[in-house]
This record gives sequence, structure tokens and C-alpha cells, in this order.
Amino acid sequence: MSLVSKISSLLPWKPTSREDQGVDGIRTPADLRGQFHLDEVHSLLSVNDALKVRRDVLQWIDDLRRARDGHIKIEWLPLSTVAARLAQAHHTGTLQGTGSGLDMRARAKALLKAGCDIGASDIDIRRLAGHAVIEVHIDGTILQFDEITTDYADKLINALYMLTKQQYRRKQSQDGSIAGRDLMGTGLVNVRIARTPIAPVDADAQWLNMRLQAGVQKVPAINALKGLKRVEPPPGKLDLVSSGWTEKQAELLQTFVLNATGTVIFTGPPGSGKTHVMHRLSEHIARTRPGQRQAFIEQPVETILPHAPQLNILDTLTAKAAGEAYAHRTRLVLRMAVNILGLGEIRDPLVATTWLSAAETGMLMMSTMHTAHPFLAIPRLRDMDPDRLALPIICDPAIICGLVGQRLVPVLCEHCSLPWDQEDPRLTKIMRNAILTWQRSDWRASDIRKLGPGCPHCAWKGTVRRQVVAEVVDPDETLMADFIQYGPTLARHRYHTRSAADSTMLEKGMELVFQGRMDPFDVPLKIERIRPYDFLQRERERALKGIETPALMERGH
Ligand SMILES: [Zn+2]
Ligand SMILES: [Zn+2]
Repeated sequence: MSLVSKISSLLPWKPTSREDQGVDGIRTPADLRGQFHLDEVHSLLSVNDALKVRRDVLQWIDDLRRARDGHIKIEWLPLSTVAARLAQAHHTGTLQGTGSGLDMRARAKALLKAGCDIGASDIDIRRLAGHAVIEVHIDGTILQFDEITTDYADKLINALYMLTKQQYRRKQSQDGSIAGRDLMGTGLVNVRIARTPIAPVDADAQWLNMRLQAGVQKVPAINALKGLKRVEPPPGKLDLVSSGWTEKQAELLQTFVLNATGTVIFTGPPGSGKTHVMHRLSEHIARTRPGQRQAFIEQPVETILPHAPQLNILDTLTAKAAGEAYAHRTRLVLRMAVNILGLGEIRDPLVATTWLSAAETGMLMMSTMHTAHPFLAIPRLRDMDPDRLALPIICDPAIICGLVGQRLVPVLCEHCSLPWDQEDPRLTKIMRNAILTWQRSDWRASDIRKLGPGCPHCAWKGTVRRQVVAEVVDPDETLMADFIQYGPTLARHRYHTRSAADSTMLEKGMELVFQGRMDPFDVPLKIERIRPYDFLQRERERALKGIETPALMERGH
């Protein structure tokens, strides 16, 4: 056993006392601070040449050289040059700090050895705004290894990049690998590093993943596993109903994310709450599957999720640059042992084909698209790349496991709303007539109300809050086959003839209208144009027979 491996196995991966551990566990002579600089990237030690005469300094250098099997170069230089190098290192952030910070290289190796000892496939360092966590992946489950300060995490990450012979460039994502004698004593033969800045970016948050390749697979000792903990799940429980989702929709959404593979696509205009529901489902997943890694790529990250790293894309980028950033980050997280990915938006052909590659590797994903209703996500995807994203490829429940359309609609203040007038001058005659076709025994036109003048209850807005109006579509094999055979329009209508199908957003909006909770004026603005009820029923009947009507083709509905 070489001296290096002996030292790494003796030195714990983080300090247990405030004692100065020196470099590689070798004590640095007390008065040397400011008189030497160790460049770990080039294994170059610069020392004030006036110290050449000191026996203890020569002994220290000799110990260091032996500890590194001779792989260190010594340069004797004037103190001014050494000081300039120190200042430069301080400026670029590569200086280990002073005193106790100088042992970080050995600490980093000790962490790798600890990972090897417990049989971990990966070690993650998540350096957040106020603290950092170290997590290990064992048999596909993530467990918490330790919590450390952000300061110590920064030093550790810096030291790991020294082992890769690179400078730590914290502002960008950075790959690297550690191999050969730099792993001596750890039990590992290769370590692949991937790291990316995460939100909050201004707090210098980082997520670093290390894939460990052990020399010999060994059974971890029970003692080594004792310090591990289950990952703490987010508090609370899933509540979608209070924001307007139906019980059945909430049930279906939870069913979608029970899958190990497939993508749930949320459609709707900006500001319809798509990211919000994805985050709530992500927390639900974290509670039910705490050992799984979730990651989000968002443009931009607006709310921080403590349980899942979020990669930010600046919202000032051009459309093309944003697409490239999405694709790059998606490929990056695929190398970071992720089980569940929230992909902000499938926005262009590059992102769409990257998404498909990710979906085909078999991971659960959630993403968004800007389409008028959920069924349109399928033809929109196909149009982005008709070869790679052909319907027979994407119309597969293992690729797309949920289609959701959602809107946020304003709810009328019950204190000041006014009865709706069938001659409502804000609406056209076509629309007023269409509204009346929705009347039934319990849907009376006399119950419809419209925006009032405002009152103290609604802070003079006339509306009190916004609620979700959504349609949740379960893309089973029958629907997917219909997409391929009949195209999206007929597939949609055929789906709606099923007795168990969720009602459309228009149907739910009209229900709110006849309950007096939504102004009919808002329906075309927030949901879609109000069509006559009997017309929609006829469309569905025709679709069931597989007939594309001339009216349908004209409108491109
Ligand atoms: Zn009011
Ligand atoms: Zn229709």
C-alpha cells in the first residue's frame, strides 16, 4: 500500500476538529503561510527561495513529494513572485483558503473512498443557497450521506476539479473525469463528473454528480451504511381540487406519474398555471418516491423546489438560443442519473427530438406546449420533425402517458355580479344564440351572471380569484391508434364520445357560466369560442362513424 492510499484512508472526508491537517495530511510549518503556493492543477509547488536554507521546510517538501509518489514539481522563486501567484489564485478562486483548507484534495479522495466503501454508484453534491447535501445512489435509490456548509461544499467541488486537472468554472456546466493514480487508495478505477449551476443561480447553487466505477464490487459493511438517511420528503400533501381540478382529474394525474416512463404534456397559454401543477405533482412524487432523482429545466426558474435541482434558462435568450439551451441541458441531466425530468417547454424541433431521445431511454417526464387543446400536442410534435416524430413513433402510451389542457379563469364576485342579459351588447348574436343552446333542465339562462361594478369583497375588481378549468386526457392505445388512423380531430371527437372521458374545457366553462360563477364574455377570451351544443354533439356522432365532414375540414377544427 502506498503512502498516498494510507493517508487517504486515515484522513476523514471532512474535518473532525479545527486542527490544521496541512497538505495531504502533512503538517505545514507554522510560519509558511503566504510564502508558498500549491497549484494543484499542475502539481506545482512555488516556494519563497529564501526558505531554501531551512531544514524543516526541506523536510516538509520531501514529505509532500513522497506522499504524491514524486508527482510534484518544486519551484524556488522570489517571495514577490510567490505572492503574485497567491494573489492570482485568490482572484480566480482556486486558492484553497488558508491553513486547514489546504487538505481538501485528500478530503475529496476520502469522500470518493467513502462512496466506494458503501457500494454507491453515484455521489451527488447539491450545493444550495444556505447549505449543501451530499447524496449517494445505492441500488437505484438516493440516500442522504451528509449535510455540509456551502463553504465546505465549494472547497470540496474545487478540490474534485483539481483531481480532474481542471479549473472549477462555477458559472457554467462542466464535465470531467478522475482516473489513474489520482484515485489511488479509493478503491475506484474511474469517476465521471458532471456538474451544472442550478437555481438560485445568484446564490451560486450547484449540482454535481459523480458516477463511480469501482475496481472490485464489494459488499458494503453494515457499519459503513449506518450514517445514511432516507431523503426527507417535502411536507404537506397533494391538493389540486382546491384550485379547481376535479377529483377525477386529480386521480388521473396521480395515475400518470405512477408510471416509470412516459411524458405528461401540459398544454395551455402562458400564465395558465402549467408550471404550478407540475411542481405540485413533483412534490407528490418526492413524497411517494423519495429515493428518485427529479430535475427541472425551466425558462426561467420562478419558484425554488428544495427537493429537485432546477436548471435555469435565461428568459432573455433568443428563441433559437433558448432551444439550444433546453437541448443541451436535457442531454446533460441524462448523464446525471435522473429518474424524473420536468422539461419546461417542448418549443422547437431541436428540443422535441432531444425530448424523444430522453423519453425513449425510459424516464418519466413532464413538459408543456402551447396548443389550444391537449389533443393538438400530438400533431404539433409531429410537425416539428415529421420523420423522427412520426405519429406511429410518438403515439405510444410509453412515450406520452398523459395529455392535459388547462386554463385559469376569473371567478365572479358573488356580492356584486349582475344578472346576465340575453341581449348582452358585449356579445354578438351568434354567440348569444350559442350560449342559449346549452340550456338544460338544470342549466337555466336566468342563473347566468356577468361582471358587476365591484365592491369591497372583491377589492373593486368584480372577480375574486382565478380557478383552473382543465381537461385531462388518458392517452390509451385506442386513442393512440385513432390518432394514427383518423388524425387528431376525429381522434379527439371519438374520444369525447366515451362515457368515461373527461369533459372538454368548453363544457366545464359553460357549467361555470350556468352556475353564475363565470361571465360568458370570458369564455372565448379564456377558453375557446362557444359553439352550439347540438353542433358539438353532431361532430362527435360523425366522428364515431369515421366521417370527416366538409364543415370540419373547412374550419380545420
Ligand atoms: Zn364584488
Ligand atoms: Zn370538437
